Amino acid sequence: MIAAVPLVPARRAVAQSDADPATSSSRPALRVLLGPGDASSAGNGTFAFQGRFYRGSFTRLDDGQIVNLVDLEAYVCSVVPAEMSPRWPPAALETQSICARTYVLQRSDPRRAYDLVPSELDQVYHGIEGESPNATAAVSATAGRVLRYNAAFAQIAYSSCCGGHTESSSDAWSSIPIPYLAGVVCTSCSDSPYFRWYSSLTLEGIAASLPASLATIGDLVDLRIPERDASGRARIFELVGRNDSVTVQGSAFRRAIGPRTLRSLLITAVQHWPDSPDIDIEGGGLGHGVGLCQWGAHGMALAGAGAPAILAHYFPGTVVEDLER
Ligand SMILES: [Zn+2]
Repeated sequence: MIAAVPLVPARRAVAQSDADPATSSSRPALRVLLGPGDASSAGNGTFAFQGRFYRGSFTRLDDGQIVNLVDLEAYVCSVVPAEMSPRWPPAALETQSICARTYVLQRSDPRRAYDLVPSELDQVYHGIEGESPNATAAVSATAGRVLRYNAAFAQIAYSSCCGGHTESSSDAWSSIPIPYLAGVVCTSCSDSPYFRWYSSLTLEGIAASLPASLATIGDLVDLRIPERDASGRARIFELVGRNDSVTVQGSAFRRAIGPRTLRSLLITAVQHWPDSPDIDIEGGGLGHGVGLCQWGAHGMALAGAGAPAILAHYFPGTVVEDLER
């Protein structure tokens, strides 16, 4: 479904900066929730909020939170270097630009008081200080270009490194299958420091991370993976205790252990010697693995691929088109 960008700013505006690029654009402004606090105009179409400067203008919601009204392209200029190293090849940055732009347009909902939050929950956005010349050049080179599937904005997902096969959205999030997010082979991300990884955990540490309701299994003595999905990721973990065993969903287990400790669910080996307190885990990739593999985009760009080819690989069946067509 195509989500329209709202034309009306969120609730009432209490202040606006000069020469607002967000409202001078032919496109309506995005609404990024910055949070509670005071904002003040800084001139030249910018304002200050909690020590940072932002393009566009701001409104204050009834609950006191500040919302940045910002032009789509200005927003993407700040997001791209936060989500991908600005030192990466131009085609990779152009790919990220198209993803960032499409992500916004696909998710914006005029019924909400704002479109986005400025964190990993949506996309990281630090205003003007987040911008970088290389990323701005990539945003300009792809200005107004979006990813569509059957005329609708594509649903965008990306993560750092897929480890060799991207994940299907339906397996990752137990949701309805999306044809272009079914998972593909990736042969371009082996430069990532997390393409293969090794983690040494303790049974005690794993047990301490789990919900108290699982304590009935007794002391944890082993960890198994009885079920994997088509990409090879752990769908189910079995926690073997002295009294009993329980199974938990892979994504819930990773959340409990911590996504930085268990870097992905593409676990290739679990080693536990009887009576040892340690458990060794080998795996591949960093992140959920759905959609764009950013290190894969890096590898494809170095091999000469352009952004449309990279996006066609990770989102098969989609096309890059002009927003205003
Ligand atoms: Zn990959």
